[in-house]
Amino acid sequence: MSNDKHLVVVVPCSGIGKPFGTVAREAAYELCENLRTGDTQLVALAKLVLGDSAAREIVAQNPVVTIDGCKHMCAAKMVRESGGTVAREVAVLDAFRQHKELKPEGIAELNEAGQKLARLMAEEIAGTLAETAKSGMARGGSHD
Ligand code: SF4
Repeated sequence: MSNDKHLVVVVPCSGIGKPFGTVAREAAYELCENLRTGDTQLVALAKLVLGDSAAREIVAQNPVVTIDGCKHMCAAKMVRESGGTVAREVAVLDAFRQHKELKPEGIAELNEAGQKLARLMAEEIAGTLAETAKSGMARGGSHD
């Protein structure tokens, strides 16, 4: 896996209890489990917080897309603290600003608007994944 130059790691914030954080997670699942199963790898933020060595290694060796639910940008910060290269920082708030009609609500279960926003985000990230991987490689520099 570590020799696959096109693998992009996706780290959503944990955002439990906040609709925007839930959108971040749903977008990451849609991207990694439905749209781009072959060239993405989801890593849970909790694993990085706990210092899980396998999670830290994969984050350190591949470009990372972070998806954060608010301005605290927990996923982006944690990836950097774990030695990773953030190739792209995605913020749910930015996506919402572009799709004001899709206001996410609900926590355990997102409303339809929130689910749609998550899908749109996943599609947009999927569409630019190749460029993201390249820019991450250029910035990270030292993978091989
Ligand atoms: S970025 Fe915001 S919503 Fe996400 S885990 Fe951090 S504080 Fe929570």
